[in-house]
Amino acid sequence: MTWVLQTWVSECGEHCIDVMLGGEDCLGSPPDDCPILMEPLGSAEVEGIPQSHTLEVHGGKCCVVKLPCCGKAFHPVALAVYFMLHGMRCPMCRSGHGSPLSAECLPSSCRQAVAGHVERMRKEMRREEAEEDFEDIDVDIDLVPVSELMTDIALLRQWDFVYPNLQLQAILHMPPSSVLKALETLNRHPFEAGLPYWTQCSTGIHLFLNVVFEHPEIHPPQRFAVQRNQCRKISRALTILRPASISFGLCYADDGDSITQVARSRVVPLQRAQEGTHQAAEQETVCSELTFETEERSVRAGTVRMAFMAGRGRSVEGITCEVRPEDIITRLVHGRIMAFQHTHGLLDTSIVTFVA
Ligand SMILES: [Zn+2]
Repeated sequence: MTWVLQTWVSECGEHCIDVMLGGEDCLGSPPDDCPILMEPLGSAEVEGIPQSHTLEVHGGKCCVVKLPCCGKAFHPVALAVYFMLHGMRCPMCRSGHGSPLSAECLPSSCRQAVAGHVERMRKEMRREEAEEDFEDIDVDIDLVPVSELMTDIALLRQWDFVYPNLQLQAILHMPPSSVLKALETLNRHPFEAGLPYWTQCSTGIHLFLNVVFEHPEIHPPQRFAVQRNQCRKISRALTILRPASISFGLCYADDGDSITQVARSRVVPLQRAQEGTHQAAEQETVCSELTFETEERSVRAGTVRMAFMAGRGRSVEGITCEVRPEDIITRLVHGRIMAFQHTHGLLDTSIVTFVA
């Protein structure tokens, strides 16, 4: 078999690149190493793709491919995988186009295996990106990525399962240096039976409040109010610690100990009330959308409102929440949830969309 010209086309169908595929007789002696695999052409396989040392073209076995740009020889399957993951640019000289190669260009004998391998690699790359993004937020604490919570996603399809297990997470934002003191102060009174404890989270301290819906139906919107004694617990924390900001999360607590954040609010500043002023306390309302991110857009899952008196004391009058069940159960299932665990329990999550 001598050199065979093939045209490889991008997924979008708009870009193409001509490649020269060659059989064993086109290899040098000894064969060159593929610059991608760093192993000899003709014998190296792509890890995870069985029988990938050659690519079948018109009944012949190709074990080398050359690009028109710099003439460097590559392993055919390794180059196809590289093109699908990183776009159709030459790994050596960067000539070509950045759009990914279509698996349809590959012979049917290996198309599925290569596409499956590429899908796994893409997921892995996304997972790594998500972890890096998260690590950027806070490098001080020991975060361990937990397995993808695919089972939770399946449960989240059904509102009947979801609503009894929802909790509202209240986060008071503060520098890591003040967290331990704050926890010591706030958790000193363990006599409040049935009330949650404050614990550390990546941006300060948080607690998880039980919620009860007025109606369990799926039709939007659904409302719940946080119980008075739980509001008092937050009042005391706001008054003692005077945190600069607060945020909320809507969380799904499964039967085990894990809690998955489904949606979160933005961080709302609380500094309007000046300490030491003698003016009468004013009622203020913190209001924020609860959203989650898919790759394309931000999805609104509900709204949270906290009314409080903004004086020297910060008494919380009420926390109410309105959620949109359909948006949660229909949109969230298209993503996968990444959970990150702290030694004290589940800490934070990011939602990453699958690429079909
Ligand atoms: Zn090149």
